[in-house]
Amino acid sequence: MDLFSESEDQNRKTSIGNCLIEYKKASSILTPASGFMSSYDFTLNPYSGCSFGCTYCYAAFFSRSEEQRNNWGLWLQVKENALSLIKKYRNKGLRNKIIYMSSVTDPYQPIEKEMEITRSILKELLEYHQPRLVIQTRSPIVLRDIDLLSRFQNIQVNMTITTDSEKVRKIFEPLCPSNDSRIKAIKEINDAGIKSCITMTPLLPVLDPESFAIKLKNTGLTNFIIQPFHTEKGKFIAGTRSAAMNLIKELDWTDEKYKMTEEILLNHIPNLGIGKEGFKPI
Ligand code: SF4
Repeated sequence: MDLFSESEDQNRKTSIGNCLIEYKKASSILTPASGFMSSYDFTLNPYSGCSFGCTYCYAAFFSRSEEQRNNWGLWLQVKENALSLIKKYRNKGLRNKIIYMSSVTDPYQPIEKEMEITRSILKELLEYHQPRLVIQTRSPIVLRDIDLLSRFQNIQVNMTITTDSEKVRKIFEPLCPSNDSRIKAIKEINDAGIKSCITMTPLLPVLDPESFAIKLKNTGLTNFIIQPFHTEKGKFIAGTRSAAMNLIKELDWTDEKYKMTEEILLNHIPNLGIGKEGFKPI
């Protein structure tokens, strides 16, 4: 995890809705990748915390304090010196290093529209580094950067799409963009000739697997990754666990249902990547 320098001004704060935004100077921006991310050299997180606050988010466990863990989704730290930290790598050989952006936040937070932290990092990586870059997001704001993305020699954009149901999405990911807006966005990126992937990580309950599979296939993408959803893992924000569990029960979302959905997806998408193996850069 990136650590923040205590000596810098740590006090600038604002809020958007219920989310407290802090502006921080980070001491590092690239973290050597390990564990689930071991196919990559580095992870890159332009923000700390995440205002999308998905109720099951595993990243919450990497928070620095219990308070942050408990309030996941209600705080976001902007690494306002991210660009200057990346610039320090100009002579260190990031060319062809495999970078995953981002592992414990979404690089396209709503505030990215005005902050342009991620955009500034992309410009720097494009001009001076040319790494192999994998972007992971669930936000159509990524469309803003197509002009830069299309100029990378080796880039992949992963869009997380977890269900076909807005009802399910609103319970598990109430602050995230709609399913359809994400599908539309990744289709547009793929149509622009940028290597694209839909990551169903985790796959939440799906109401109509057959239609979902066809809808995904009709995007024209050929890369998909699936991973099961574990109700016992992750960080459920107070009050959401019971709603999520009730829905899982109501929809009878069992291991068998997951397997059946996976099979239907495989019928339509033969090269469906599964779990960690599927998560390797394409
Ligand atoms: S967008 Fe990603 S990092 Fe943010 S809360 Fe959701 S799962 Fe976690």
